[in-house]
Amino acid sequence: MGWKRITALLLAALAGCGLTGCGGRMDPDEAQESIQVIAMDTAMVLTAYGEKSTRAVYDAEEEVRRLDALLSRTSGDSEISMLNDAGGEMVTVGEEVCGLIQTAGEFTEATGGTFDITIAPVVSAWGFTTDSYQVPDQETLRTLLEHVGMEHVHLSGGSARLDPGTMIDLGGIAKGYTADRVAEIFQEHGVPRGKVELGGNILVIGDKPDGTAWRVGVQDPKRPDEADGLVCVLDLTDAFAVTSGSYQRYFEQDGKRYHHIIDPATGCPADSGLTSVTVMADSTLGNGTMCDALSTALFVMGEDKALDFWRSGVYDFQLVLVTEDDRVVVTEGLKDDFAELEESGYTYEYVS
Ligand code: AMP
Ligand code: MG
Repeated sequence: MGWKRITALLLAALAGCGLTGCGGRMDPDEAQESIQVIAMDTAMVLTAYGEKSTRAVYDAEEEVRRLDALLSRTSGDSEISMLNDAGGEMVTVGEEVCGLIQTAGEFTEATGGTFDITIAPVVSAWGFTTDSYQVPDQETLRTLLEHVGMEHVHLSGGSARLDPGTMIDLGGIAKGYTADRVAEIFQEHGVPRGKVELGGNILVIGDKPDGTAWRVGVQDPKRPDEADGLVCVLDLTDAFAVTSGSYQRYFEQDGKRYHHIIDPATGCPADSGLTSVTVMADSTLGNGTMCDALSTALFVMGEDKALDFWRSGVYDFQLVLVTEDDRVVVTEGLKDDFAELEESGYTYEYVS
């Protein structure tokens, strides 16, 4: 056995004990830190590699907590709650929240109103903010819908004002924005590879330590509680992937399921024939927010309109749609990075 081999074994043993230094250095790329964070109503896993991986994940955790406190609708002292509770008065909310509201408004415009943060009072009427679920009557919904629409939101500098009766809910975009911020922090720390899971919002940086792409599974909406209940697996590098699904949050009443993605046109859970929408884009900053807004909007649109929107080319992204009639519809840009799962029971269609 040569000295090189002995040294390699020794280093491997040291690394295995979590030790570094003492006569050798681990490949800096292979240092790894992974933490779990419960925030934004979801379980998150932040994993980074590289010399500064520990700093990177803990700075990212701090940022996740800061954004949770800033953007939450349910914590009374967040800027969003202050705005929602202001009864039509102007509130100083700061540039960041103003910027995010502005961005949300641009997605409302681009998606024909299917993504709309002013859906908040309707989300509450269904009980999704308090967990005391109920089916609101048509008259209640009709009245609430009068206050839905971005024309009821007024921004000026670092201040904002909502018309009386209007409220905002950033739940459809907050995790995507957070993913963008985590990507930025990882970039600042020179993280060469990593994976960030913020509920259904995933960010992968670089490739895996073994040089292959990160494998990201799309959950089977019919088997959300099974770890291997997937409809397909995607090979991704430097990408955001965001899923919106009717299985993620719902309640059942009189044998009917009511989920949390509301069609602003009706005030009811979107009944679009889809059970999930996954939007993927490269890891350019801003795309985390985009993927999140679009996954919600395209769920509301349904298959045909979602594909037309994709074909319009206004935004650069790829899609996996899962339908109620057991089809998985995949846009062509994913074809080479997409693995069907034979045992899933779904049929696969590739569209261009
Ligand atoms: P997501 O999981 O990203 O699809 O976001 C769903 C969450 O966004 C819901 O829990 C609501 O808080 C909010 N929401 C529901 N419907 C809409 C909609 N049409 N546009 C924007 N936000 C919505
Ligand atoms: Mg979303």
